[in-house]
Amino acid sequence: MNSKAEQLRNLPAVDEILRDQTIGDMSTRFPRAQLVQWVREAIEDCRTSILASNILEGSEVKFDEHPEQLAQSIVDRVRVLGEEQNAMALQRVINATGVLLHTNLGRAPMAQRAIDRLQQATGYANVELDLGSGKRSKRGARATQLLAQLAGTDDAVVTNNCAGATMLVLQAIARDREVIISRGQLVEIGGGFRLPDVFTSAGVKLREVGTTNRTYLRDYEQAISEQTGAIIRVHRSNFALTGFVSEPAIDEMAAIQRPNSVPVIDDLGSGCFTDLSSLGLSEPTVIDSVKSGADLTLFSGDKLFGGPQCGIIVGKKRWIEKLRGNPLMRGVRVDKLTLAALEATTEIHLGDHAIQEIPVLQMMFESPEVIRKRCQHVCDCLPRIEGVDLSVVACDSQVGGGSVPGSSIPSFGVRMGGGCIEQIASGLRAGKPAIQARVAQDAIIMDLRTVRDGEIEWLLSRLRQTLQAVSGHA
Ligand SMILES: *Cc1c(COP(=O)(O)O)cnc(C)c1O
Repeated sequence: MNSKAEQLRNLPAVDEILRDQTIGDMSTRFPRAQLVQWVREAIEDCRTSILASNILEGSEVKFDEHPEQLAQSIVDRVRVLGEEQNAMALQRVINATGVLLHTNLGRAPMAQRAIDRLQQATGYANVELDLGSGKRSKRGARATQLLAQLAGTDDAVVTNNCAGATMLVLQAIARDREVIISRGQLVEIGGGFRLPDVFTSAGVKLREVGTTNRTYLRDYEQAISEQTGAIIRVHRSNFALTGFVSEPAIDEMAAIQRPNSVPVIDDLGSGCFTDLSSLGLSEPTVIDSVKSGADLTLFSGDKLFGGPQCGIIVGKKRWIEKLRGNPLMRGVRVDKLTLAALEATTEIHLGDHAIQEIPVLQMMFESPEVIRKRCQHVCDCLPRIEGVDLSVVACDSQVGGGSVPGSSIPSFGVRMGGGCIEQIASGLRAGKPAIQARVAQDAIIMDLRTVRDGEIEWLLSRLRQTLQAVSGHA
């Protein structure tokens, strides 16, 4: 056994590693400065290990006798750093989880018409230019016009997301005053953000009324004072409250006697324009909210609306004008790509084929039988691998993304059981396109409700590749 000093002397130089073939191949994808930094890090890690004398632990290789092995382990380390970097790059993922609005996967996939329109806006575009007169125009004028038309309101405004929309509304309308809200609606949305915190950061004071499970109309009525700036209802979008529960409907809230300066705001979150009752789901629609008399109705663009990420506010002109004039409007405005995709998505909703054209809706209304056949096809096309049993099983798809909590839609999935589940799941995530499946205790279930026909060939080729790799190692 050589001394630590000798081992340290055997450490390769940075240049030596950079001349390696593997590292050379990586230089087409990564800048040289990045590679040099990784090589330095890898050598440094190795040095630390030698000093700690644990470099040989659990290893057959005697680095001190084989300096080339030491170099190879450094190259391997750099290759792993590169792979980690590649995996972090934003890329296409096939969603085999069956969760339609998967926040971790970017919620709603966009409609083809929206993608085409977005593409047109990537260069110069008439974002604030009236091509008729050649004069400056109002940003997003057409999108908001279409949205107002769709919702049946006087006007509309668009922000970066629904949380931003809420902040804008409260800041512009109720700043330094009280906002009345039911205790049953003080919800936490994704990413650890709590709506009460979002609200108060807009400079309003919450006036909580009722209890967690029951809030009455009179609770709201009694809370109204000179301090009141607004009354808000927040749709419980990511959890269900059942049992001894009660709260007034939005039309009853809109009918509350109140000063002219106090609007009723309806934060719907999911922004549904489609009747989901045939699926056994009940989700309040934007149109119902507007018809019920809400002054402002807020929803996300990338939930059941099926468009790009944005916040949409529809409602009465006098309130929308106040929003447009607020300085925060400039801080939450959307870019041209969002506007382009939003315009196209709204056009689809205004037409007669929303369910066929909007992917989220199309997948949602897909019959279980069609999905079962898709699963059978995938199952039939896959090689049989020792130790992995394949079958088609019934499962449940979730709407997700803060919509229709606690409800599910019957579906089918391809089940892969056996010993190497984790290995298969990580193999599926590692290639291109990446595949995210559902991993249960003893099996992977790929719910094919959220995998579209155009993705099946990709799915198959990635599955074949991954199964073969796993069987090769077995
Ligand atoms: C999802 C949701 C939000 C947040 O919407 P983002 O577009 O993600 O900002 C706010 N309120 C409700 C009720 C929601 O469901």
